[in-house]
Amino acid sequence: MQRQDLPTKPSPCQYTTGKVLGHGAYATVKEAFDKETGGVYACKIINKHLMRGREYLVRNEIDVLDKISRGHPNIVTLEDYFESKHNLYLCFGLCNGGELFDRICSRPHFYEADAAVLLRTILTTLEYIHASGIVHRDLKPENLLFQSDGENSEIMITDFGLSRILDEKLSLFTGVCGTAGYMAPEIFSKKGYSKPVDIWAVGVITYYMLVGHPPFDRGTARLEHAAVLSGDLQFDPSEWAPVSMTARDFVRACLTMDPARRPTAEQALKHAWLSSKTPCFVPAL
Ligand code: ADP
Ligand code: MG
Repeated sequence: MQRQDLPTKPSPCQYTTGKVLGHGAYATVKEAFDKETGGVYACKIINKHLMRGREYLVRNEIDVLDKISRGHPNIVTLEDYFESKHNLYLCFGLCNGGELFDRICSRPHFYEADAAVLLRTILTTLEYIHASGIVHRDLKPENLLFQSDGENSEIMITDFGLSRILDEKLSLFTGVCGTAGYMAPEIFSKKGYSKPVDIWAVGVITYYMLVGHPPFDRGTARLEHAAVLSGDLQFDPSEWAPVSMTARDFVRACLTMDPARRPTAEQALKHAWLSSKTPCFVPAL
């Protein structure tokens, strides 16, 4: 990244940092306190040396968030960005409630009604992201954060590092990227893929929330990959007994192998599992 790409105002001196909030592939995220305003943020500190050759990912995250982050209340806001000699800094609105990942791991599974509430928000936000011509490409429970500690906290979509803006010339992507276990089968076909990959990831996340493990986890990366490519989706009756057939049908729809037949975010929101005003989550057995 060229020096002139990011402002080099007196920051990061403007901020003091606090506890570590999380780690990513190339970044550490820490609490940051603005000395002038008293504002508290989540500051993603990216080591330039480790990021060398992939600086475009940071530029991309800034461009995407500049375009959409003020447009929807469930997208993390980018408040400030700057660089020092060794690091790039992105300051986000703070999400105090931790990752969806931690909430999944801290209980055997989510109650279906609680999962449906979160899924409704995630899909409404995704509908906005897709309508803005953006594909997230890395939806997973580590990138879905709770605004606060409370059980009823808002959920926020973060980490737009791998996201891409579609334009008239670029309507399909071919780069194989994402996180194993959440990547749709068409990503590996090299024939091109687009917004439906995010719906596939929503299907993986929903399955994970409802039974406490992801759908294609087969013990090794090779077997997991093979399970995705062959569409080997299983609903073990002993785990799925307390879950309604409607929820299973929702998961199955999101995990449709053919991206053209997978629901859009708008269609997924109209699925019976999410659209009913007074949902009745009747266990299947
Ligand atoms: P990477 O692109 O390296 O995966 P992320 O943007 O996903 O980086 O941030 C890594 C982790 O830092 C997240 O999974 C989360 O735990 C924490 N984190 C990121 N943004 C925030 C935020 N706005 N508020 C609180 N914690 C955050
Ligand atoms: Mg991340």
